[in-house]
This record gives sequence, structure tokens and C-alpha cells, in this order.
Amino acid sequence: MGARVGLVVPHALLAASSAAASRALAPSRARLPYPPPFPASSSFSTAASPSRLLSRPRRGFQRLPPVRAMASGNPYAAELAAAKKAVTLAARLCKVTRLVPFSPPSCGLRSERPSAPHFSGGSQILVSLVLKMEVSSGPFSLVAEEDSEELRKDGAGEILEEITDLVNETLVDDGSYNISFTKEGILSAIDDGKSEGGPSGRHWVLDPIDGTKGFLRGDQYAIALALLDEGKVVLGVLACPNLPLSSISNTNGSSSGDQVGALFSATIGCGTEVESLYGSPAQKVTVCSIDNPVDASFFESYESAHSMHDLTSSIAEKLGVLAPPVRIDSQAKYGALARGDGAIYLRFPHKGYKEKIWDHAAGSIVVTEAGGIVTDAAGNDLDFSKGRFLELDTGIIATNKQLMPSLLKAVQQSIEEKKQATSLL
Ligand code: AMP
Ligand code: MG
Repeated sequence: MGARVGLVVPHALLAASSAAASRALAPSRARLPYPPPFPASSSFSTAASPSRLLSRPRRGFQRLPPVRAMASGNPYAAELAAAKKAVTLAARLCKVTRLVPFSPPSCGLRSERPSAPHFSGGSQILVSLVLKMEVSSGPFSLVAEEDSEELRKDGAGEILEEITDLVNETLVDDGSYNISFTKEGILSAIDDGKSEGGPSGRHWVLDPIDGTKGFLRGDQYAIALALLDEGKVVLGVLACPNLPLSSISNTNGSSSGDQVGALFSATIGCGTEVESLYGSPAQKVTVCSIDNPVDASFFESYESAHSMHDLTSSIAEKLGVLAPPVRIDSQAKYGALARGDGAIYLRFPHKGYKEKIWDHAAGSIVVTEAGGIVTDAAGNDLDFSKGRFLELDTGIIATNKQLMPSLLKAVQQSIEEKKQATSLL
């Protein structure tokens, strides 16, 4: 019931009075319904966008700047600008907190966060919307994690209504687009992400909330968006709302009190950059130049169910890594690796798990464009052209060029030993 009685405000406005907040949040009746009664992608071009119609941004956020193709020499400049805007808007939605009355209502307001499906569904819808509005070239294809199946079931009406509110309020708050989603529009926008991807044409690849467990814990998570062109990842952006802007080496991924909210972006041949999610000049980043494993540290999943910590500890020992593992959730690990916060990324899911392309597409280009290498356990490049899943040998590893040969050797020896030990059981 929180959605109907509650208000959605950023943390900064939690203290605002309910009446003032209600006035500020009342949606404009003049906003256009979504989906529109005409084809979306061609009719809503940037030039014809109704985005300038809303007079002011709300709830304290500044309106995201209009998408402009930036740096010349980047063949994907327009797509990059749209991708950055898309994940930044989605990150705003993920930061929303609801205010609901204490009971009895006279006792004031308390804050309550909607559940993970609200945020991942909402994030996916916003990313899909921004891409459709801002990138006009070619047919729209999105390979994304969420679909509408659960939301179409009996009894899901309330959550659907809440997602609709969350998305619409985020759009009103930003003010870039004069659009209001209907519940049916929400369902069909989520299903925009059903593409199978593949080796030809262009496909956007999205994890709307990567690292849900970290998100729920208040730890690391990422909104991860990549573009495949003819089967290759050509662009990737990672919005990491809880990642400190400064290095997390020695902090185990938690905030060291510095500003948090990092946006990594990479385009093929153009390098990797990081900037604040709240606006700052982008800075080029590179992976670390450590060549002695004794000085290296490694990132791995926080969740032992996602990666075999016994195997990674054996690899680290063989390699001569002395530092303890840095365990953080999501593709924030790739971002941290790309800017040299650590030297190695290890991921070895338990037997039978099939990796999805949205869990690695953006992260891998963020690392490779920063000068790193990302491969499977056999040293093969990751192949994102096979559909929604990655076909790969055993696990995923990433590091700099200097450390990769010895890392691969240690990985293969440790895997072999583990296989022999299990066959003896
Ligand atoms: P990480 O935070 O690096 O552990 O990765 C988070 C991602 O792991 C999630 O977005 C899921 O898609 C994925 N995941 C979910 N279940 C598993 C599993 N059993 N093994 C490996 N990865 C998983
Ligand atoms: Mg994921």
C-alpha cells in the first residue's frame, strides 16, 4: 500500500513536509501517455522531443543535460552520450526512497524502500525509453534481464502500479521527457528487453541492476549497459551509485567517506573514462601497471554462491598474491579494476551456471579499453555474439597485460588440481 499513500523523494528531502512534497510531486495532467499512439522510436526523435516542455526539474535533482554527440573521432559518440544519460537516470530511480505515514498517521512519516523488482523493472524501462528517444539509427534491439511475466500474473497489480508510479515520478523529477507511462506501457516497455542478440546488427545489452544482493544490502551494485555491433562490444557504461569516486584499494569496497557515485564509460578504440554520476569532468583511467603478483590484490564476488572462493584462494596462493581478496558485488569490480584499484578479477561460478551477456558486456569493455585483458579460464576472449548467454570455459578472469600469462598458468593449475581432488572423492 506504500505507493498510494506514500511519496517518492530522494534522501535529501526526507525531512520535507508531506504537503509540500505532495504539491511538488503531483504529476502534470498534460504529459503524453506512453506508449504513444504512433511508432515511438521514429516519432520521438531528439529534435522533436517534447522534453523541453516541462518548465523545471523537481525534487532537487538537476535535469540531465540533453544528449549531444561529443568527441569527434568517436564513431559511437551519439550512442555513448545516450547510454550515459540512460544509466544516470536509472541510477536516480535506484536512489529513490518512499515516505509512508507511521501508523497512526499522525505520528509523521517514515522512509521505506520499495523492493528490488521495483527498481530493476523501473531501471530497465527508463534505460529503454532514453535509448529509444535519443538514438534514432536503425531498429531497436535490447537484450535485458527483466521481462513482464511476473508482473502480468494475478496479484501483481499493486507492484505494477508502484513501478508505474516510480518510473513516472522519476521522469517528472528529471523533466527531460514529457511522457507518462500507463500500466500497459510499463509492461510493453519491459518486454522491449526480450531480444536474443546475436552476431549481426546492433543490440543494446542491459543489466538494469547488476548485483541485486549488494543493492539490497546497501553495498555495491551497477546499472550496466553495452552496445554490440556485429557481435562485438563497442561501447559500455557502468553506473555504480555506491562506488567511491576515489580508489577503493584497502577499503574492501565500502565507502571511505569520500563522494560516492561513479560512472565508467568506454568506447572501442577511445579508452575508458570515469566521472561522477552527479556531474564532473570525465577522466581517462587505466589498469594498474603491477607486474609482480606479490604487489597485486584481486576482486571477486561477495557471494560465495556466485564464485568459488576456495578455487580463487588457491589461484591467488599459486600466483603469490599476498593481499586478501576484495569481495564486492556486481560489475563495479570491473570499474574498480579499470582504474587500478586492484590488479586482478576472478570469477568461477559453480558447476552448471551459465553466464549471461549482460553480466559482463559493459564491464569487459571498460577493462579492455583501460588496457586490461578479459578472458575465460582457457585464455579465450569472451564471445558476446551467441545470444543471451556466454559460452565459455569454466570462469572469467581479467588483469593487465603483464600479469595475464602467470595468472592463466595459476588458473589452469588450480582448476586441474580441483578436478583431481573431486574425482578422488
Ligand atoms: P557478482 O556480484 O559479481 O557476484 O555477480 C552478480 C551477478 O551474478 C548477478 O547479477 C546474477 O546475474 C549472477 N548470478 C546469479 N546467480 C548466480 C550463480 N549461482 N552463480 C554465478 N552468478 C550468479
Ligand atoms: Mg547481473
